[in-house]
Amino acid sequence: MLPAVFIGHGSPENALQDNEYTRNWKKLARALPKPEAILCISAHWLKEGTAVTGIEKPATIHDFYGFGDELYKIRYDANGSPEMADKIKNIVKTVRVGIDLEWGLDHGAWSVLANMYPKADVPVVQLSLDYYLPPEKLYAIGKELKPLREIGVLIIGSGNLVHNLTRMDPDSGPYSWATEFDSFVKKNLDKRNDKALITYMEQNTATLAHPSNEHYIPLLHVLGASIGEKPQFFNEDIFAGSVGMRCAVFGLDRPL
Ligand code: ZN
Repeated sequence: MLPAVFIGHGSPENALQDNEYTRNWKKLARALPKPEAILCISAHWLKEGTAVTGIEKPATIHDFYGFGDELYKIRYDANGSPEMADKIKNIVKTVRVGIDLEWGLDHGAWSVLANMYPKADVPVVQLSLDYYLPPEKLYAIGKELKPLREIGVLIIGSGNLVHNLTRMDPDSGPYSWATEFDSFVKKNLDKRNDKALITYMEQNTATLAHPSNEHYIPLLHVLGASIGEKPQFFNEDIFAGSVGMRCAVFGLDRPL
């Protein structure tokens, strides 16, 4: 069974950079059996309703502004998988899943996958985040996705466990609220207290750590897909004061 993974993706520039984060993403890929397909739940595909990408050749979406030209030239040419999209549509019962033929791969997916699988030789589908669904429903969707792991699908939630862009400061160490929220997540992942992680908004630091929720909630799918499994962590760092880069791998039977 393939592990389920949460990746803190941070800046799109990680697609181009050789740094500690990207080296560890590569190391993770080397530690995993090669997947048959990847299902990515990215913070950057937020919409009304739940959909899965169903096109054969997903486009590389450059969904960001103000970066250098080189980043806009990147194309990540992995195939899609209409068959996998159908399978996902059929196994998820919590909500109706639509097949989307317009979305491609956003940078929450390709900035990470360009490091993990630079040959782009594993088909990738994305599942959207429905901004109207409560956290417990996203967790329930994750549970329904779990059987995919048994047929060689690597489930990747891609977001950040602390994400406040307006407070980013390249010269700052981690803000105390950022460290506090990240510690809350780590502690409850270790204990597999999923309930606390589903009701994360009850934390005093939650609205500072997540002024909007899209970078946190891919974690809920990953948790649903890995109930009871212990995490291994890497990239346990807070970038520019307010972006948590922590990654968590569930169900890997040996140390990373
Ligand atoms: Zn992002």
